[in-house]
Amino acid sequence: MSTVLVVEDEAAIGELIAINLRHAGFEVKLAADADIAQREVDRELPDLVLLDWMLPGQSGLQLARRWRGDARTRELPLIMLTARAEEADKITGLDAGADDYLTKPFSTKELLARIRAVLRRKAPEALDAAVEVQGLRLDPATRRVTRRVEGEMREVKVGPTEFRLLHFFMTHPERVHSRAQLLDRVWGDHVFIEERTVDVHVKRLREALGPVQCAGLVETVRGAGYRLTQQLGSVAA
Ligand code: CA
Repeated sequence: MSTVLVVEDEAAIGELIAINLRHAGFEVKLAADADIAQREVDRELPDLVLLDWMLPGQSGLQLARRWRGDARTRELPLIMLTARAEEADKITGLDAGADDYLTKPFSTKELLARIRAVLRRKAPEALDAAVEVQGLRLDPATRRVTRRVEGEMREVKVGPTEFRLLHFFMTHPERVHSRAQLLDRVWGDHVFIEERTVDVHVKRLREALGPVQCAGLVETVRGAGYRLTQQLGSVAA
């Protein structure tokens, strides 16, 4: 389940957004000002932030700039909410690092569409959409991994960590991920475990993928990390 942090000082608006997002399957956290929002983010990175521009104390714009200047929050998916519809404001918001910009009042439908679009672009592993690479299909909604082999649909049995790891690889194919990046994105930040833990789980994942002839999908890139290849030619049984 994806977590959305809603930073909004008007309680009625915040609650309304929260109800609608929860209804759509998101976990929602509410913060009434920038300090509370910062504490939430320090504690655990959400998958996306809806950030109201006008907040008491530090503005949403200042908070967005601060987050973009910090390595930990630089890539945090961020949508600014505002009552200001002027073009110049929109540009200022996007310049501050917002991934998108919504002018109040907006419909729930539009909000959800924008959230999904930003997640698709920046954090597709946070979405429930099924992904498929070389016939290997992973469905987050049912938590199943399947592949047709010799005309027969086979299910791949993987543990929860291998499932998340495979999901991340499949939503970011052909890119090389360092062990540190994988720990951040798959295990979650603030988790202090050794990098060789990643190797252990990659090994388990390959073993699980062997029976469906996909063990070779996850490649080791010497000195750099791991990559999921989309080239079936290099896939060893
Ligand atoms: Ca406000």
